[in-house]
Amino acid sequence: MFGTSGIRGIYGKDITEGLAGKLASVFAEAGLCLGRDIRTSGPSLFKAAASGALSAGSDVIDLGIVPTPTVALATKKHGCRGIMLTASHNPPEYNGFKLIEHGKEIGKAMEKEVERRCKEGWKASGGNGTLVHDNDILDDHKQMVMGMVDRKAVARKKPKVVVDCNGAASVITPYLLSDLGCRVISVNASRDCFNRPSEPSRENLAYLSRFVADVGADFAIAHDGDGDRCAVMDEKGDVLPLDAQLAIMIDHEMAGAKNRKVISTVEASLTIRDVVEKNGGTIMITQVGSTFVGDALEEKGALFGGEPCGEYIYGEGVHVPDAVVAAAKFAEIFCEHGKFSRLRTRYPQHFMARERFQAKDNKASMEKVKQAIAIEGEMRSDDGIRIDEEDGWLLIRASGTEPIIRLTMEYKSKEKLERRKKEMTEIIKKNI
Ligand code: MG
Repeated sequence: MFGTSGIRGIYGKDITEGLAGKLASVFAEAGLCLGRDIRTSGPSLFKAAASGALSAGSDVIDLGIVPTPTVALATKKHGCRGIMLTASHNPPEYNGFKLIEHGKEIGKAMEKEVERRCKEGWKASGGNGTLVHDNDILDDHKQMVMGMVDRKAVARKKPKVVVDCNGAASVITPYLLSDLGCRVISVNASRDCFNRPSEPSRENLAYLSRFVADVGADFAIAHDGDGDRCAVMDEKGDVLPLDAQLAIMIDHEMAGAKNRKVISTVEASLTIRDVVEKNGGTIMITQVGSTFVGDALEEKGALFGGEPCGEYIYGEGVHVPDAVVAAAKFAEIFCEHGKFSRLRTRYPQHFMARERFQAKDNKASMEKVKQAIAIEGEMRSDDGIRIDEEDGWLLIRASGTEPIIRLTMEYKSKEKLERRKKEMTEIIKKNI
């Protein structure tokens, strides 16, 4: 049922009102905070989930359209569990559920427990729960973020910002930045449809480049459907490489902080490792996925956890990726350091290669590939095979959804990259 982040699928086929009701009935405990993104299947799934929780005797706290981090905050505020109805950055025909407890997505053990209880069926107990609305939760979230940034610095500089939410964050990010003193131009703020593909990638934001330059904005912020990813575009209309963006954020978070622990995933680039080490910190690497980053952040008591897909978790915030905080932090960074087109040059890009190979059986192929590799270096294999060398790293990882093996590598010299690419390609091709 569960993937790397909650449950996702096609609405009407994998994701139905029946599943929403059953899931909410077994997961609700004393209360259930319910939020949703802007998908057209959202209202109906929302009512089904609310009915499920009410029938199990649980109260329901209706948050309406909110980003995922707002649901996480609500679970802390109300001391109960929460469900966010969303398929994150998947296309509009998808929907799904993110299950949240104590401000964090549930871990793998709890996912298994929920799955088991779902198999037992709908839990109904007479249904004497009540439905209430929390109309203050967006203000609570804004207040939390305001306490995490230098409001005076932003209010003094008044940056001109284009905000492209294209999803649930449209109810908060433009207003928050405006309250902070930014001059905001909000685009794609519809509450009932996506106007571009939901992932805030370079390709999907290409249309915004000229607009940002034409209106003379200082930078642009773009989110995904459930407001847990943040992408930044500089004043020239260039989307910052995601690892440079993450490096900028880590540098910013570590400046002046006593806590020097940072979490990232097996996809973290050399730049990320360098930035943490330059700041005298330690980096801990987890499997890909915000639940793993959130778990590690709590376990290690880390300052910050970030993935190079634009998802950032702040130790002092909620422990799911919070792109609303990230948007405010990027405004703060701009006010401190100036144009992102210049700032990004401080974080050099090394030589990278990404290859994909068609496999017959992902699991069997990965096992054989692992046996065939003989490189001196620190190897970890809980999420594919990652080998860290002094001057670079490589990652061989099976896709979670297709019969495909991916090879990602980064080295400081082009020659080394080419040599490793040739060696690894031979090994992979021989073993799939
Ligand atoms: Mg998302």
